[in-house]
Amino acid sequence: MILGRHNLAVFSMIAAIVSGPILRARPQRFEFSQPHMGTQVRVVVYAPDAATAWRASRAAFHRIAVLDDSMSDYKTSSELMRLCRNAGGPPVRVSRDLFHVLARAQEIAQQTNGAFDVTVGPVVRLWRRARRRVELPDQNELQAAQKLVGYKNLRLDPGSRTVQLLKRGMLLDLGGIAKGYAADAALTVLKRYGISRALVAAGGDIAVSAPPPGEAGWNVGIVPLDSPSQPPTRFLALQHAGVSTSGDAEQFVEIAGQRYSHIIDPRSGQALTGHSSVTIVAPDATTSDTMATAFSVLGIDEAQELATSLPHLGVFFARQTASGVRTYERGIHLSAMPQGAETRPER
Ligand code: ADP
Ligand code: MG
Repeated sequence: MILGRHNLAVFSMIAAIVSGPILRARPQRFEFSQPHMGTQVRVVVYAPDAATAWRASRAAFHRIAVLDDSMSDYKTSSELMRLCRNAGGPPVRVSRDLFHVLARAQEIAQQTNGAFDVTVGPVVRLWRRARRRVELPDQNELQAAQKLVGYKNLRLDPGSRTVQLLKRGMLLDLGGIAKGYAADAALTVLKRYGISRALVAAGGDIAVSAPPPGEAGWNVGIVPLDSPSQPPTRFLALQHAGVSTSGDAEQFVEIAGQRYSHIIDPRSGQALTGHSSVTIVAPDATTSDTMATAFSVLGIDEAQELATSLPHLGVFFARQTASGVRTYERGIHLSAMPQGAETRPER
């Protein structure tokens, strides 16, 4: 009797293994969207059923909300702002996430020679005000703020997981890394819920895992520099990657005929001028987010030098010049048409 039941169990197990792939429904596409981190975050998943998709995406959005609470420089109660209030004081112990983001930021700062630098906060503040008032920042104020900028004044101790800001008045700004990190973190949450085919887009910072069933990758569209409201004209098919686009398409101010970006050169304290857009493909979105900002700062010529020393990155750089749009691309496969019918292009 007992043996019989045992045999039955073994039999049904084998039956499940044999028929499993046949009986299991093809995963369906589900899409969710919520506002976080000052942008719209979109989660696209392939899941066996709506309940799984919903539970997983809810957990992913929750993870992003928690990260936003920690890393926002708009919320005075954020962990980041509490850390900054201790600038000039002793080291402060921080959460694993904040430490990890700051450690990545410091690595990227070193690799890009300070073109990416999260200590740019005091200068970003002045340029944000300038954009609101449509008036250039006061040069004296800018000079004073610039004295507080420099990633070497940010000390991390992995042993005690502490962070020290060496100068009083220093201010960190994670606007160039937090969205990419959040997209990566959300993708990890989805995996924990058994979802291996997903896309998380936090504004222009996108993380993707395995592609949609039967597809070569997730289609990501790049809009033309000179007509950003038009549909994309170049497409990427990506899997297990991060992709970010940085530029002045959305956030800029025009003063006396000059276009000033929300991206700052931390070495001079000046906002980038002119009109350009950089798309970076990297192993993860934390890297693509930071590198897209850094490449924007370096400009198309210096960016080419850096790109050759970072072969794991795909780069597409477009810059408006007097004679039209100048482009540079490396290690990136762009096609004129989206590949595959199932996904609509992400942009
Ligand atoms: P977006 O926020 O539009 O995706 P980015 O990823 O390029 O664009 O991040 C730009 C934001 O990062 C700015 O709004 C500012 O908060 C911050 N920032 C500006 N310049 C730098 C820089 N050189 N290094 C690090 N962060 C920067
Ligand atoms: Mg960025």
